[in-house]
Amino acid sequence: MVVKPALFALFGLLTGSFLNVCILRVPAHKSVITAPSRCPDCGRRLHPLELIPLFSYIAQRGRCRGCGGKISAQYPVIEAANALLWVLAALRFGSVPQLILSCAALSALLGLAVIDGRTGEIPFGFTAFIGVCGVLNISVKLWVNLYFITVISYIIGFFAVSLPLYIVYSVTKRRAVGGGDIKLLAASGLFLGWKLVILGFFAACLTGTVTHLTRMKFAGAGRELRLGPYLALGLAFAMFFGDALIDRYIILI
Ligand SMILES: [Zn+2]
Repeated sequence: MVVKPALFALFGLLTGSFLNVCILRVPAHKSVITAPSRCPDCGRRLHPLELIPLFSYIAQRGRCRGCGGKISAQYPVIEAANALLWVLAALRFGSVPQLILSCAALSALLGLAVIDGRTGEIPFGFTAFIGVCGVLNISVKLWVNLYFITVISYIIGFFAVSLPLYIVYSVTKRRAVGGGDIKLLAASGLFLGWKLVILGFFAACLTGTVTHLTRMKFAGAGRELRLGPYLALGLAFAMFFGDALIDRYIILI
């Protein structure tokens, strides 16, 4: 019982560490694999012992061992958040392919949420990665059950939100909605199916609008709303709770 969540916590930490590298390097168009990790302050190459997720940050009290410069709190926060998502997924999803693909997609959502919040762009690589999870999920479903009908919900999911948004995008000449958001909703629809992607989109709009209006009123935030972080949150919410919520709603009507 405890082994599976513990295992996913461990791998979630390690993947979170790699996700940190992606979050920093992908928007700057740098390689995420070849360049070694260095301290951004003094440029010193980091020892493997300084790269242990969460542990190194705590042991070094958030400072570089060479120059004493502060290490961004982003590192431990992303590592812990990614591990938490993976543990929750391990507790939620029974089938192994669905669990692994969900973990992969959740990490991508976490990464693109941070990048969009910072730069205002959702990198296409992250979106494409979720799309690949969708294709793999469909392949597994078809392999288990060869009827095309089992995957039609995912094909519809690709267009369910993205197509109406694309029409809005074309009519308003790109002002009302971003192209990156549309691509993300297409890829996520392919992975989640049409019901969950619609639910995730509405959850994102609701939390995004409420949070942003509050921030505009009290924190003096600008009019521009970056939807990416809210989409990630809404889609993750749909992934975990969507099926149960939709079932309950169907019973109610
Ligand atoms: Zn340093």
